[in-house]
Amino acid sequence: MNFPMEYQAVKAAALRLQLRTEAFIDGKFQKTQSEKTFVSENPATGKPLARIAACDAADVDRAVAAARRSFEGGAWSRMNPAGRKKTLLAFADLLEANAGELALLDTLEGGKPIGDTTAIDIPDTIHCIRWHAEIIDKIYHHVAPTAQENLGLVVREPVGVVACVTPWNFPAQLAAWKIGPALAAGNSVVLKPARFTSLSVIRMAELAAEAGLPPGVFNVVPGFGTTAGQALGRHPDVDMLTFTGSTEVGRIFLQYSSESNLKLVTLELGGKSPQVVFADAPDLDRVATQVIAGAFWNMGENCSCGSRLVVHRHIKDELLAKVAAQAGALKVGDPLDPGTRQGPMIEKPHMEKVLGYIETGRAEGARLVLGGRQTLRETGGYFVEVTLFDEVDNRMKIAQEEIFGPVLAVIPFSTEAEAVAIANDTAYGLAASLYTRDLGTAHRVARAIRAGTVSVNCFSEGDITTPFGGYKQSGFAGRDKSVWAHEQYTELKTIWMQLD
Ligand code: NDP
Repeated sequence: MNFPMEYQAVKAAALRLQLRTEAFIDGKFQKTQSEKTFVSENPATGKPLARIAACDAADVDRAVAAARRSFEGGAWSRMNPAGRKKTLLAFADLLEANAGELALLDTLEGGKPIGDTTAIDIPDTIHCIRWHAEIIDKIYHHVAPTAQENLGLVVREPVGVVACVTPWNFPAQLAAWKIGPALAAGNSVVLKPARFTSLSVIRMAELAAEAGLPPGVFNVVPGFGTTAGQALGRHPDVDMLTFTGSTEVGRIFLQYSSESNLKLVTLELGGKSPQVVFADAPDLDRVATQVIAGAFWNMGENCSCGSRLVVHRHIKDELLAKVAAQAGALKVGDPLDPGTRQGPMIEKPHMEKVLGYIETGRAEGARLVLGGRQTLRETGGYFVEVTLFDEVDNRMKIAQEEIFGPVLAVIPFSTEAEAVAIANDTAYGLAASLYTRDLGTAHRVARAIRAGTVSVNCFSEGDITTPFGGYKQSGFAGRDKSVWAHEQYTELKTIWMQLD
């Protein structure tokens, strides 16, 4: 389904959607054993959107069994890499043919502006699947430098059954970051999407089957973290679990693994990323635009959100005025409106949590410069104004904890050493950006900040060719995207031969 980017046309297209709401197991839609469902709502209206199958341990068992059968059967896991590439490229083509529908699903369930889902989320989802498809027949195994009478082959093999547990902030895209490399490597996958955002991923599984992925290779089990998510985390026949979400739940997955079969676990977690602006930063208007993108893209519901603006005292007031002016002009509204830049928070309790942090910021003595309230109450949705705090001390709660909302804390510094110390003074280490004209400063500070991605003179997570993941409590044992993501879905095997 495609549609012109015009408000009425987008709304009409949303009404025409046919929602798939069942689990996708062994190549087909299946009812859950309990027949239980849960309601997914539209956070822009607070109204119900769909009833989704609530998978529990019994359904997870069926999905894992289907994945195991397909893996052992070899139709996918032992297929020539060129064959897997062909099927995944066909999958990407089908995603592209249905890009408008996928964008609408993420907009309706996730409250994400349609301008973002059509221009960023779904194109990146498609590109990610294509990129990992393309790489798979270009990776070589290794021959070890052994003595003449031996041959040591070092080969990479798919891990087996890979479980993915994904969050609600980039539903299709973060699913693609997991399934792209996992499927390309020959694994079979069982994915549990966040309960707020199941629809695009269920549709993706259907399209994958249509593209020729054998039954059981890509299964989707919608449901709750504490039931379906836990069942995957503890399952004795899951070989690897890859998770994106909160640091708190990431820890629980390590526990599940240690208490079950020691499955491999990779975690992509939260952040409290600094945007460091030096006094010699070029073009403060442009810096302000980038700072706003870093802080408020996806309503701040972004793990790499640049939620701390660490700025040199000499330019703080000038930059703050520019950031406030640009941020104040961001249109908050219906995510189906192509003019909207800020949609709602994902759910009411999350909106209340964000508003609670804003209250804490005031109580801690930070100066509110912009926003700070719920807005558009009449819609029934969960909208929060774009919010800016000045005079923040890095020890304050709003500078230390992940708010996951449109709240930017401004923290001044005087010296490079102080800037680096503030940037590093959190439990997290996912991303950072810095702005300076000086190449030496850029290199020194980029190396000194303990974060998985540091962007210079822009806000960026890199692209599909670069790894993404965190230092410290922002990640564990792996990276999404790039060739390194591919490696984590494979095991290393040594084959040692005696030749005489
Ligand atoms: P969670 O970490 O709770 O959820 C992420 C995924 O894990 C969801 O699929 C969720 O299922 C599942 N899950 C939750 N609890 C368990 C459990 N005990 N066992 C197994 N699976 C579980 O994120 P939230 O949605 O609750 O958001 C809370 C905070 O997490 C945010 O405010 C933000 O700080 C952070 N976050 C970070 C993200 C990132 O990109 N790094 C993404 C999302 C959130 P269910 O759908 O039932 O919750």
